Amino acid sequence: MKYLFVTGGVMSGLGKGITAASIGRLLKSRGFDVTAIKIDPYLNVDAGTMSPFQHGEVFVLKDGGEVDLDLGNYERFLNTELTSEHNITTGKVYRSVIEKERSGEYLGRTVQIIPHITNQIKDRIRDVAKKSDSDICIIEVGGTVGDIEGMPYLEAIRQLRNEEGKDNAMLIHVTLVPILDVVGEQKTKPTQHSVKELRGLGLDPDMVVGRCEEPLKEKTKSKIALFCDVKEEAVISMRDAEDIYQVPLLLEKENIAEIISSQAGLEKKKNDLSEWRGYVENILNPEKLVNIALVGKYTDLEDSYMSVIEAIKHSAAEKNTGYNILWTDAENLEENKDFNYLKKADGILVPGGFGSRGSEGKIEAIKFARERNKPFLGLCFGFQLAVIEYARNVVGLEGACSTEIDEDIEHPVIDLLPEQKEIDELGGTMRLGNQITEIKKNTLAKDLYGKEEIIERHRHRYEVNPNYIQRLEENGLKFSGEDEEGKRMEILELPNHKYFLGTQFHPEFKSRLESPSPPFLGFIEAMNENN
Ligand code: GLN
Repeated sequence: MKYLFVTGGVMSGLGKGITAASIGRLLKSRGFDVTAIKIDPYLNVDAGTMSPFQHGEVFVLKDGGEVDLDLGNYERFLNTELTSEHNITTGKVYRSVIEKERSGEYLGRTVQIIPHITNQIKDRIRDVAKKSDSDICIIEVGGTVGDIEGMPYLEAIRQLRNEEGKDNAMLIHVTLVPILDVVGEQKTKPTQHSVKELRGLGLDPDMVVGRCEEPLKEKTKSKIALFCDVKEEAVISMRDAEDIYQVPLLLEKENIAEIISSQAGLEKKKNDLSEWRGYVENILNPEKLVNIALVGKYTDLEDSYMSVIEAIKHSAAEKNTGYNILWTDAENLEENKDFNYLKKADGILVPGGFGSRGSEGKIEAIKFARERNKPFLGLCFGFQLAVIEYARNVVGLEGACSTEIDEDIEHPVIDLLPEQKEIDELGGTMRLGNQITEIKKNTLAKDLYGKEEIIERHRHRYEVNPNYIQRLEENGLKFSGEDEEGKRMEILELPNHKYFLGTQFHPEFKSRLESPSPPFLGFIEAMNENN
């Protein structure tokens, strides 16, 4: 097992996760088995209780783990499925140590950050790596070197490198190389300082990746090599990319995987990136273009909908189509009835969400899509709101709503899942992760998936109220997918519409560049037919 640690310096937002995932991709394309761990030094046990405003979307894994969005990038770049253990948080680490202390495992001893917390961190890393049965495990440390929260992790990495040997546990540091406008010079001082900080903690990097607007000049590389004590070939230039999927190709030019393999003593293997190159070519130079109105609450922070955007991108690339997102603020739609984006759009997408704010705006958007025969895709909350819209405006159930939005409504067409009624803790208690959906014959859903049983990931507390299913169906709404017991509605569609599909699950989480998600693929196709 080879460990590859990735730390970040100078500031956050340098694309450390994408860099790490891209390195993984390059090693994988050489035939190695690669897995990844993301360390998040915050105290939350998982990302499930955090607002998308702060940390971007909550990514959901097959085992129901609610994790940092970087895990999504690892799954997409490595084309793999990870589990919650692949996201180590300070909350999880401390919880285990404190539980052990309470059970008496450390009886008689003082429980301390070193060695108890650091041991727990090392054990977790080793366990996950071992269980995954991979050749290489990439471990990304969230945050920036120097953050107080990150210290125990860096100390654990120092110990682990000593125990495993440095060639078996390499360290890659990603930093910023700014260009000073006045002189146009690539400045290395921030990198020098951040590596100095790292070395002060006993960690000397084997490789420095310099993020810069433009490729690093030879002069810049030599300077970094000299001051940071790394080989010149191990200073890697990482310029801004037009798209994240281009990053592996840019890093390949820098020979990064060869340098890592030779230091780690891994057998040299030929790589094959031709397929990947083809996808990137389609992303960067599409033949046609579609406009998609994405109606949401967090439209100021694009990371809130990362997997949705990636899933659009995968399907668009497959269909050689470019896409333009019209970020449509649901509250603005509600208050100002500004339908310009909806009119301009070739298709309307209402993603997952929570709470009442903006929900009426989203319902307006769904009505618009239904009445004007515009391709529509509703995900989770978007699916639930489509049921509400139909109940109100077609079935004629005035005031139909979800009990999530209003507890005392006359027609609760969306209601709390029965098993949720006894739950009062909010962390990790939704209906989460993989669940089976049975698809009915002769439906759009069956055409899209091409099979009658699918597995998709979930994250919800509410569902279509079983008492209303019959009435909705009698009035033309088709539930084309249900859970195995036929109790839970999973997919809805409108047979006479160009493309109107809603899913209670989140198909975006399983979409890959190599295998785009069927509901998204159908959505893009329907929009193409429009043009
Ligand atoms: N708020 C809705 C529920 O809990 C939808 C959740 C979602 O969109 N992820 O059921």
